[in-house]
Amino acid sequence: MQFIETRGNDGSRPARVSFSQAILNPMASFGGLYVPERFPDLGADFLQRHRDSNYKVLARAVLEAFAIDIAPEVLQRALDRYDHFDDPAQPVPVVKVTDDLFVSELYHGPTRAFKDMALQPFGVVLSALAQARNEHYLILAATSGDTGPATLETFKNQPNVKVACLYPDGGTSDVQRLQMVTEDAPNLKVIGIHGAFDDAQTALKSLLGSQRFHAALRERKTRLSAANSVNFGRIIFQQIYHIHSYLELVRQGAIALGEKVYLNVPSGNFGNALGGYYAMKMGLPVEKILISSNQNNILTDFVRHGRYDLRHRKVVPTSSPAMDILKSSNVERVLFDLFGPQRTRELMASLDEQGHYQLSDTETAQVQAIFAADFATDGEVEATIREHFEQGYLMDPHTSTCLKAHRSCRDKDLPDIVYSTAEWTKFSPTIAHALSGEVDAHDIDALKSISQKTGLPIPPMIAALFDRPIAQPTVIDKADIEREILSFI
Ligand SMILES: *Cc1c(COP(=O)(O)O)cnc(C)c1O
Repeated sequence: MQFIETRGNDGSRPARVSFSQAILNPMASFGGLYVPERFPDLGADFLQRHRDSNYKVLARAVLEAFAIDIAPEVLQRALDRYDHFDDPAQPVPVVKVTDDLFVSELYHGPTRAFKDMALQPFGVVLSALAQARNEHYLILAATSGDTGPATLETFKNQPNVKVACLYPDGGTSDVQRLQMVTEDAPNLKVIGIHGAFDDAQTALKSLLGSQRFHAALRERKTRLSAANSVNFGRIIFQQIYHIHSYLELVRQGAIALGEKVYLNVPSGNFGNALGGYYAMKMGLPVEKILISSNQNNILTDFVRHGRYDLRHRKVVPTSSPAMDILKSSNVERVLFDLFGPQRTRELMASLDEQGHYQLSDTETAQVQAIFAADFATDGEVEATIREHFEQGYLMDPHTSTCLKAHRSCRDKDLPDIVYSTAEWTKFSPTIAHALSGEVDAHDIDALKSISQKTGLPIPPMIAALFDRPIAQPTVIDKADIEREILSFI
């Protein structure tokens, strides 16, 4: 399988690249992204055959259908990372909440958020490729919370890859910060920045644009890659759990094989939703994909009106911070799939230069044939958490945004698979407030009070964080980032 570019080819890069090239060097011509040249057709036969397959067997089969240039033993080692999830036999449990509401829990990995689903195997693949080529890679990450811990955890002690991770000091939850600053491995560097997440991200961008920085990297024989969801190496692992969750509903007797379901995705950068769309393209029986947002509801606007408009918008901080995003990178891959490279390049140029684009009515109808969307306010998110806890299910604020679309976006009486992207432990002050109105300044107090109220234990990897020594004490000004990273590598 070869990969092509969403904005067409500029004549100086190869027009088609292998999977390994696309993940080692994820930036394509004109600022575009890599996508598979075509998609395998899984078909009813595939679903029938894997009706009772466990997660890893299913994952192998999906990856094989893509015929990527990764050695089978490397893929096996990558998938073996799921053996470290809570239940190796069932890394993604699917829980029936009501007759038409199923929650697919994507957070049972080491950092308790769904980023582990793709980053855990991705880390093994990237390091194996770097070793085979005898090359050294630097991954730069700016994080407001979940990507940082998951990126550090997957690359910890992996040969030929180093990670430098920037976070806003004071701008993450206690649990998220501790997950980063207690990571102790020689190939990891965690840097707190005086400032907000935007400052960390802007600092990273200016570093990526600095000739001096690139020259210094060349001198040190180090190449740059990326571990965010613009990298197809993450997307490929995010198709699998959609197929798995569907088959889980079949196994639980909620649907017959072939019957349609809704997928309902709490969306930010659109990697998770894109994985669902690709699964649908490959033949998974999906009625529609529901795109759930918080008050940063640019995706709701996009799906309802075909309009993507950054003007007059600013990121609003919410209780679901992993979705506080306005530039949702993976929407571009949907545009490419529906409208082709020329139109995608035109739309993305309009977004980059004018801050907006508008689809035609016909194009908007094409988007609406696949997606529907709604958003929830923080108040609705807390009310939903409380209401469902009273009925016996505890969910995090990101997952909670989905319940609005669950009620408003389905025009058929079909089951809805809601994706749960984080454990309650990662956003405990919001949950404590939702359940009892209490205000906790520190995660540890909220964790204890929720645990007491609900009878749920605090998982050992979260409890242990508060006693682990700080291995990464660096907190600096933006101006010192370049020097700090260069001295690290
Ligand atoms: C990253 C993240 C999301 C958003 O996922 P995308 O694939 O970027 O749309 C939602 N919830 C949580 C908890 C996350 O960490």
